[in-house]
Amino acid sequence: MHGKFLFLGTGGSLGIPVIACECGVCTSSNPCNKRQRPSGVVHLAGKRFLIDAGPDFRTQALKADLKRLDGVLITHCHFDHVGGLDDLRVFSLIQNKQLPCLLSQESYDELQIRYHYLTHSHSTDKFKFQVLEADFGKTTFEGIDVHYVSYLQAGMKVTGYRIGTFAYISDIRKFSEEVIASLKGVKTLVLSALRYTPTEVHFSLDEAVAFARSVGAKKTWLTHIAHDLDHDKVNQELPIDVQLSYDGLEIEF
Ligand SMILES: [Zn+2]
Ligand SMILES: [Zn+2]
Repeated sequence: MHGKFLFLGTGGSLGIPVIACECGVCTSSNPCNKRQRPSGVVHLAGKRFLIDAGPDFRTQALKADLKRLDGVLITHCHFDHVGGLDDLRVFSLIQNKQLPCLLSQESYDELQIRYHYLTHSHSTDKFKFQVLEADFGKTTFEGIDVHYVSYLQAGMKVTGYRIGTFAYISDIRKFSEEVIASLKGVKTLVLSALRYTPTEVHFSLDEAVAFARSVGAKKTWLTHIAHDLDHDKVNQELPIDVQLSYDGLEIEF
């Protein structure tokens, strides 16, 4: 299945420039070093699915001239991934139907706390929640086969998604072998990597390259990038099949 993926945001949780930071990347004039919070749109078989809706979503949607959405896939409920969820209500208004939303049970439970008014019965006209039944498996979302994997980030369940030969795996550091096994056959991988050095909850660049090699992806695009990484410098250092993405990049798979 042939499709496209548009990177709406490729920054870490703080975005770049980081507020009040005067480092080389935050003050860089290179547009590839301006990074909003991580998100993207998958175009496939006539459908458009958003992956995550961070706090920059409204700006991103206006910039990308996003006029229609067929659904949203949520990886997990940290603010950098769901801070813009409220702004998705506009799509149920203009499309005059509930916006389908795919997520884990843990993410749904968390949303009930963070956005109780979106999950209450009087708001059921805004979202149509489809809760995943397991940690690993396959479901049909708006007529499209979606495979999913799970891992924990500081105790929070994170869901990675695979659609055809494309996969989006964010906020990963610790994972089971089942994750790798489930991603075999992926050709285009979007993967989070925060800095040169690992953190408790994020891959370093080297760890991301090793993960991409284990999966066997032909091309891996890194996202969720912190201000430690200069776009041009790091891409020269990285292997050609594993590169930093940037806001506005559109890839085909
Ligand atoms: Zn900085
Ligand atoms: Zn994150």
